[in-house]
Amino acid sequence: MQAKIDAFMEEVRARNAHEPEFLQAVQEVAETVIPYIATQEIYNGKNILLRMVEPERAIMFRVPWVDDKGEIHVNRGYRIQMNSAIGPYKGGLRFHPSVNLSILKFLAFEQVFKNSLTTLPMGGGKGGSDFDPKGKSDDEIMRFCHSFMSELFRHIGPNTDVPAGDIGVGAREIGFLFGMYRKMRNEFTGVLTGKGLSWGGSEIRPEATGYGTVYFAENMLKTKNDSFKGKTVLVSGSGNVAQYATEKAIQLGAKVVTLSDSSGYIYDEDGIDQEKLKFVMKLKNEKRGRISEYADEYSSAKFHKGKTPWGEKCDIALPCATQNELNGDDAKMLIDNGCKCVSEGANMPCDADAVAVFHKAKIFFAPGKASNAGGVATSGLEMTQNSLRFKWTRKEVDDKLKQIMNDIHEKCVEYGTDDDGYIDYVKGANIAGFVKVADAMLAQGV
Ligand code: GLU
Repeated sequence: MQAKIDAFMEEVRARNAHEPEFLQAVQEVAETVIPYIATQEIYNGKNILLRMVEPERAIMFRVPWVDDKGEIHVNRGYRIQMNSAIGPYKGGLRFHPSVNLSILKFLAFEQVFKNSLTTLPMGGGKGGSDFDPKGKSDDEIMRFCHSFMSELFRHIGPNTDVPAGDIGVGAREIGFLFGMYRKMRNEFTGVLTGKGLSWGGSEIRPEATGYGTVYFAENMLKTKNDSFKGKTVLVSGSGNVAQYATEKAIQLGAKVVTLSDSSGYIYDEDGIDQEKLKFVMKLKNEKRGRISEYADEYSSAKFHKGKTPWGEKCDIALPCATQNELNGDDAKMLIDNGCKCVSEGANMPCDADAVAVFHKAKIFFAPGKASNAGGVATSGLEMTQNSLRFKWTRKEVDDKLKQIMNDIHEKCVEYGTDDDGYIDYVKGANIAGFVKVADAMLAQGV
């Protein structure tokens, strides 16, 4: 079997040699899906996985924009339309200086499996730009977003491709992007998700990724009659996902002791409560400040410059920052310090070594494509409401989100339970995500 996997990876590597993140994501899927394909007559000889790793379309474009001083800058824009076998392309836009083809292809590939798992009819895509929103004025952000959409609009649409936010793209950016789309097309449609509540947005969408990550972890704990109550939780990141994962963990009775950003992490020995969390939301969302300011505000907290939180004692870890933020050594520290459950809020925050450590220790580990699918699932619910020209209440959306996270968990258990009873959520998510897309591709022909 390993020879088959190696041969497949060699072929993928030859075509994508300089794309380490993409290859990392494909390898992880190949290791679980290729052995499964071998047991299923219908997939044999169809090269389905090889077809899945090639984007249906990859668009790259120039994004010129003018700063407040009148100087002209040029960034690169992308949209990877990975797979539309089960629905329109769906996935976020990321604005960050690290953005390149490899990172967007890895994210788009993951998105295909994630969206399939949500039970909703959404294909997978991802896009963004190497533009750095840090330190830019609102006007500069607006001019950049308008320029970005003045090209992207011709490639997307409510039945074609529906982008949303990701790192660096929040409510403000979605507003500017939607404004330009509406102008270019002279149409008010549900073409972007994460919209404002008064113009087509859904309740719970801002909270959904973070809440969903905790709902998924709650489901994992429930398999051993356990819960969040009284648990110590490490959260990394301090953006949208981290904020709402923290909120939900607190609501379920846990003590969250850390948050972080690229400058370091804060440890609050008394725990982050709802009021302190409000401070973080204001600090990060409105003032665009650094997490170190939390320690200036609250004496119970200490700032650890340039470090990640994984050396601290905890029961549960929720990595909610970015890809490959937690490596094998971090994973060993977590296990040594008593961590029993890891639920990824970000996309691929744990590298392959870290995942191997968690599996060896047989603790709960949920890959982002399952545990953070609540965000895109609620985007799917926003699309449904837009199509219906209707609006569901907070409770209605939250109940649907919970149900979807339960369903994803169930699918992972169905496809991921090993002979000894251990649930391999990576295997479960990959196979369950694969089956739905592969069946659609088979039905539709080559
Ligand atoms: N960027 C989010 C993700 O990684 C959400 C995408 C969406 O809502 O379309 O799943």
